[in-house]
Amino acid sequence: MRLFTSAPLLTSSFVLALGLTACSTETVELSKTTEVKAPIAKIVKDDKFTYANYDKVRMTHLSLNLDVDFDEKVLDGTATIDFKTVDPSAHSLQLDTKDLTIRSVQGLSSAGKWVAMDYTLSGEDDVLGTMLSIPFSKGTNKVRIDYRTSPTAEGLQWLSPAQTAGKKHPYLFSQAQALNARTMAPVQDTPAVRITYDATLRVPDGLLPLMSAEQGDKDENGEYHFKMPQPIPSYLLAIAVGDIKFKAINDHIGVYAEQYILDASAEEFAETPLMEDSNAKLYGPYRWGRYDLIVLPPSFPFGGMENPRLSFMTPTLIAGDKSLTNVVAHELAHSWSGNLVTNSSWRDAWLNEGFTSYVENRVMEDLYGEERAVMEQVLGLEDVKRSIAGASRPELTHLKLPADLAHPDDAFTNVPYVKGQFFLQFLEQRFGRTEFDAFLKDYFDHFAFQSITTEDFIKYLHDELHVKNPDALTTEELKAWVYGPGLPDTFITPVSDAFTNVDAARTAWLDGGTAGDTSAWSTHEWLHFLNNFQTF
Ligand SMILES: [Zn+2]
Repeated sequence: MRLFTSAPLLTSSFVLALGLTACSTETVELSKTTEVKAPIAKIVKDDKFTYANYDKVRMTHLSLNLDVDFDEKVLDGTATIDFKTVDPSAHSLQLDTKDLTIRSVQGLSSAGKWVAMDYTLSGEDDVLGTMLSIPFSKGTNKVRIDYRTSPTAEGLQWLSPAQTAGKKHPYLFSQAQALNARTMAPVQDTPAVRITYDATLRVPDGLLPLMSAEQGDKDENGEYHFKMPQPIPSYLLAIAVGDIKFKAINDHIGVYAEQYILDASAEEFAETPLMEDSNAKLYGPYRWGRYDLIVLPPSFPFGGMENPRLSFMTPTLIAGDKSLTNVVAHELAHSWSGNLVTNSSWRDAWLNEGFTSYVENRVMEDLYGEERAVMEQVLGLEDVKRSIAGASRPELTHLKLPADLAHPDDAFTNVPYVKGQFFLQFLEQRFGRTEFDAFLKDYFDHFAFQSITTEDFIKYLHDELHVKNPDALTTEELKAWVYGPGLPDTFITPVSDAFTNVDAARTAWLDGGTAGDTSAWSTHEWLHFLNNFQTF
């Protein structure tokens, strides 16, 4: 995710890309989208923001069949859930729901018949919502839940025609991260659990539904069908419905948007294929089939959201000069860091966001040169310093966030993003870029379609890199980064020559002189100039 209110995400996105200084001409073959089975290994439950007993019973597939009802502002229909029993002593499937009306639950009997099942709803917690517990007998591994969402579902935003640019049709979009998938459907709403999904949607005439999945055409019954054959965590479930048009950028990348902004969006994001090439060159092929972007109405509350195959983007990125497209680089990078290898709890959010910020910066360097990448690092540093200084307690500046985190949203500060990025830069400096790049490429491959903890990463780092280079870093240095506050002693401050000139210009100006010729300054340079007036 790219936050909107967070300074580094905002400031580092104010970048001017006035043409490419360097780019990859290497064409990377797209991998075909093939079905991937979610691993059903035993895992320890370490996510406290879910009622799900996923260490005992784990859902593996979700099949949605829903009416998108704009009059009632609800999704209404069924969720069919496939699940596997991990612990043979378990006899109930526990799911997260929030503000859902559950009408009935059926189970598929071993004889292949749907039969009514008992269920209980309990909990009513402001953060977690309500637990749906479904006792099952041996042999049952599929349940069907008849339900509807609430008009005030936190994960769904229903816009009236007047709230869209076209003014004629209503619009719906979702935001499931971090805990809102449970307001859209009953699920095991934890990043530790990965599911494949399919969906059948019925929408009013004239509207196009989209999901974070393979897009099917409208069938003879007027229904749209979607399929996500690769296992994703529930926070990547996504839906958008509106008067939405499409424009291709190349044969597997394109833009969806309302008509008024469609051509401008395709032009603004024209360099997305170069970003994909750069990512693939560094970290292996893009594994999700198509990559499309959808430009949402202005009320979308973030810069971007990395829904697989379909990144959700704010229209405020359409600046006309490609100056904000590193948000695209960020969301695309999540196709490796986050969507492919996922934090198994929000305490490990840096595994998603720190890796993504690091990858984004590497892609920026690859495409636009080192100077720009370093300027973005310095701007990130200025922002994370403010976050560290403003943290209510030191534990919130650790990469591994504390067990008593009050809400997953508290994980989304500059710390996991920028400190996480700097930690990976530190490892790159210590092990050398060539070694570290090969390590990261293997890491994404090794943990592909899995959800892991910080400790899983540290073990893999140790086994695959540290044992071969034992002198590269000490355990104490590693611990200071991951389990210690702020930026540790081993952090090397990035230095931008361009910013050194800006500092000199600011000093001269504050001394009563002039800042000199600023006509060639980039947005980065202006931001650095403005960020450093703390004396006022
Ligand atoms: Zn992100």
